[in-house]
Amino acid sequence: MEPARMKRLLAALSLAVALLLSGKAMAQQQAMLDEAFRAAQKTFERALPGMGETQFGVDIDDYGNALLAKRFTSSHWKGAVTLKTEMGDGKGSCSRFAAFVRIPPNQGVVTLVLCPQFFTKGADALRELTILHEMVHVVAGPDECRAMALAALIQQRATGKFTPVDGYWTASGCEGGRFKLP
Ligand SMILES: [Zn+2]
Repeated sequence: MEPARMKRLLAALSLAVALLLSGKAMAQQQAMLDEAFRAAQKTFERALPGMGETQFGVDIDDYGNALLAKRFTSSHWKGAVTLKTEMGDGKGSCSRFAAFVRIPPNQGVVTLVLCPQFFTKGADALRELTILHEMVHVVAGPDECRAMALAALIQQRATGKFTPVDGYWTASGCEGGRFKLP
């Protein structure tokens, strides 16, 4: 085979391999995301009995619908909201966070962006907590203290303990505020 043809063939082959690998990586990430949602849903369902209609100002029905069905009629945003997920590329907000949400809703859609850091190997528990936390932003806006407090309360009610968030709690100025950790 002449060198130029050989080169083109090799280029085409390596592109095919790259596409295959990235397809596989995407499927793996989707599976990890689905698993994180399943774990968060289970924890929420365990926490739910006896919870009030609102908790820390978050409508618990909205929260449950967002987490379980990815759609809810929002008392906070006033209207029907669909939750979409998107894989982030590590730039912008992804350089600081494992995940973040695009709020307020744009044409009835709130987007949850999962950053490369979210898919760290062995971080199953952290992924679940991230979903519980981000879902507060999805239904009730950007307050960090509220998101940490409700996620911790849900964990506490479901399992009797919660993931320590002291550093981030202090850094976010939540101490002495209106929200409390369990
Ligand atoms: Zn947050």
